[in-house]
Amino acid sequence: MKDILLDIRDLYVNFYTYRGIVRAINGVNLRIRQGEFFGLVGETGCGKSVTASAILDLVRNPGRIEGGKILFKEEDLLSMDKKRMRNTIRGRQITMIMQHPIAALNPVMRIQEQIAEVLVHTMSKREARRAAIERLAEVNIPEPEKVARYYPHQLSGGMAQRVMIALMLSSEPPLLIADEPTTALDVSVQAQVLLLLEELVRKKNSSVLLITHDMSVVAETCDRVGVMYAGDMAETGSVREIIFDPKHPYTKGLMQAIPSEESMELEGIPGTVPDLVTPPPGCRFHPRCPSATERCKKEKPLPREVSEGHLVSCHLY
Ligand code: SF4
Repeated sequence: MKDILLDIRDLYVNFYTYRGIVRAINGVNLRIRQGEFFGLVGETGCGKSVTASAILDLVRNPGRIEGGKILFKEEDLLSMDKKRMRNTIRGRQITMIMQHPIAALNPVMRIQEQIAEVLVHTMSKREARRAAIERLAEVNIPEPEKVARYYPHQLSGGMAQRVMIALMLSSEPPLLIADEPTTALDVSVQAQVLLLLEELVRKKNSSVLLITHDMSVVAETCDRVGVMYAGDMAETGSVREIIFDPKHPYTKGLMQAIPSEESMELEGIPGTVPDLVTPPPGCRFHPRCPSATERCKKEKPLPREVSEGHLVSCHLY
């Protein structure tokens, strides 16, 4: 399909720890279209952030990508030369907004210099410094000339995340990965930051992979959603399908869950997420699934299309 920007096929990632091999990603498939806001949801430890690290070639020892393809503009990032990946893809064509922006910014560099450093590849130094102030104004930073001279530690959490958004969108990346971008912020500024991110990204026609545990964030911002469980992609579909017509028993449980501030404990489903050193055979969800059969204990369910673009990995379909 022509409008597919990112196409992850059968991705496997393991971590080799003293306890044994953590089978963190277990054959994940995911597609993001041009200009699409794609939400990746699931409980802590389900593999959302590891998937993001794999896209950016940031899986480091003891982690190892064991198989699959990550096609970005039809080119496999996993077989790309490391230098090219570093110089032309990561930080330019695919950028990332982290949960803790202050930690992600360079602490000894003024904000203006950090943004100008990205812009200088396409303009003169003087223009880049001026454009950096415009980028700050674009993310609604008050007194952008003044804030441009700040160091990261002088910013509030909300301001730092706006600066991060300005920085990460400076190169006009086709794909932006946002890993829990508002979790560390005050509730009062979370909605503003998300709205801003959505406005700017849609204006620039970038695609977004939004990693979150918060279904209300997904409902408000995303076009499509992928639901991960224990390293598997349980279900993908439009926001409407996932929220109003979930098919996978895990997605149904997730919809019934009452999230607290800190966690995404499932109210409706007994049990806990499995230890991925010894994951359950067959469907990894079977020990918690109310519909599990003998087949589920032996055979891994493959994704099936239940309606156009709505994929479910479950033997019930
Ligand atoms: Fe439940 Fe079986 Fe479907 Fe897994 S494959 S979600 S265990 S019914």
